[in-house]
Amino acid sequence: MPKTPETKNYVRSLARFLRRSIPARGHVRVRRVNLGKHYGDSVPGMIWLNARASVSSQCDTLVHEWAHQLVPVRRVEHTREFWIAQGKVYQQFLEWLAAYRIDDPREEE
Ligand SMILES: [Zn+2]
Repeated sequence: MPKTPETKNYVRSLARFLRRSIPARGHVRVRRVNLGKHYGDSVPGMIWLNARASVSSQCDTLVHEWAHQLVPVRRVEHTREFWIAQGKVYQQFLEWLAAYRIDDPREEE
């Protein structure tokens, strides 16, 4: 399941949507790699998602890591400002689902 083209397309589509709808300060690259037990990671301008995770996990992690792009800090800090940003990104995630008429992938499992 994890490495299907469908998963890749979902994640790419969501990344494209976020770049347009809630842009970060610069271009953000999204790579899907094997991260072992971790769901994702990011530094300014770069997000890594675990390609072995389910499509729902990858989309959820992309929302989280995108919020880090909006509120960059040196260390991973989940400040109040961060959670407000994540709420805004999540709202765009819902817009993406509606715009593409995709069933919520979280209901697949
Ligand atoms: Zn985080």
